[in-house]
Amino acid sequence: MKNLSILGSTGSIGVNALNVVSAHPDKYRLLALSAGKNLSLLQDQITVFKPKAVAVLDESLAMDLEKALSGDNLPEIHFGPEGFKHLATIDEVDTIISAITGAAGLMPTYEGIRAGKDIALANKETMVMAGPLVLREAEKQGVSILPVDSEHSAIFQSLQGHQKEDVKRIILTASGGPFRNLSLEEMAQVTAAQALKHPNWEMGPKITIDSATMMNKGLEVIEAKWLFNLPIEQIDVLIHPQSIVHSMVEYRDGSIISQMGIPDMMIPIAYALSYPRHIKTGLPPLELEKVGPLNFEKPDLGRFKCLRLALRAASAGGSMPAVLNGANEISVAAFLNEKIGYLDIPKLIEQTMEAHKTHPIDQIDSVMDADRWARKTTLANLKTY
Ligand code: NDP
Repeated sequence: MKNLSILGSTGSIGVNALNVVSAHPDKYRLLALSAGKNLSLLQDQITVFKPKAVAVLDESLAMDLEKALSGDNLPEIHFGPEGFKHLATIDEVDTIISAITGAAGLMPTYEGIRAGKDIALANKETMVMAGPLVLREAEKQGVSILPVDSEHSAIFQSLQGHQKEDVKRIILTASGGPFRNLSLEEMAQVTAAQALKHPNWEMGPKITIDSATMMNKGLEVIEAKWLFNLPIEQIDVLIHPQSIVHSMVEYRDGSIISQMGIPDMMIPIAYALSYPRHIKTGLPPLELEKVGPLNFEKPDLGRFKCLRLALRAASAGGSMPAVLNGANEISVAAFLNEKIGYLDIPKLIEQTMEAHKTHPIDQIDSVMDADRWARKTTLANLKTY
């Protein structure tokens, strides 16, 4: 029996993780749940899963939740950064499912690692912003970081039973999002409502926009660099619109090993929790004979400028990936609030990156400083749009 704490249980990954837990009550016990603002879904989850502790974004939401709950066996209610930290460090918890969106997920995940918890990692920002520090701490504490991102899960699975020295490169696949075939002129007209319609995956709004701009793939390249300890030159990206091949590893003899499946996050979440076993998910099978042709093409970095910027940040290293991430979070929020156009997203990010002098990151505080600086600079630039 594994004791779990889910950070971000009201999100798309959180809900899928709860589906895995529900399917295997003999394997997983849920001790803690966290939400941001969605109290009504959190209340439903409390009723079903009866956690010992929960956390929400702030004190006023915590008070609202306390008023709304009644009955026996009520959970402790925590809030804010300290509350999320508490959920990540509860003694009895073995594994944390890190599924808060954005930079807000970094600190509780890091605290969980410091407390010796294994991490099922969906929050890619943890690796993007602070990869070397996170890995150093994980090694010190002897904890495992198991990928939930479908591409990284595919690579992790394709590496099983093979030798790292034999890897020639890894190939991350990308759906290419809804605007794969649009020209730059057409992209200039794209609205938030159009960008929120992903062709293959059901995800939260921020990552859905990142998938459309392909920033998501750029963040994943940085995540892969740290998770699999590979130089950027050994990480390639291929657009694969069907989202059936979730990523691949090429070995030096020419063999390519891939993992395939229907596009459903329950599969990588289940593997991160059950590794090295594969457990039942209850999902329909992948029927390759019904899928039709599988296509692969190189991404066009002239049209997908966010991917180009992310590769630049990956090469710069140090504080630059945290700056890229912070600038992207502000720009995506501005686009969703209809303050800027779709093509302004990479423009704003590039402005912030150009104003930044990359410095090494040797402690978590310097990562958070770089994040704050990027947000402030991007918000200031945003005023001129
Ligand atoms: P969602 O937007 O669906 O959910 C985000 C979760 O985080 C919600 O529980 C939300 O609470 C909570 N949250 C938001 N802001 C804060 C904050 N400031 N402090 C604390 N909690 C907060 O996101 P996803 O589930 O789509 O993504 C979660 C993470 O997983 C991201 O890092 C994403 O990149 C990664 N990921 C997601 C995939 C997917 O298929 N969705 C695939 C691979 C990776 P509430 O809603 O209650 O406000």
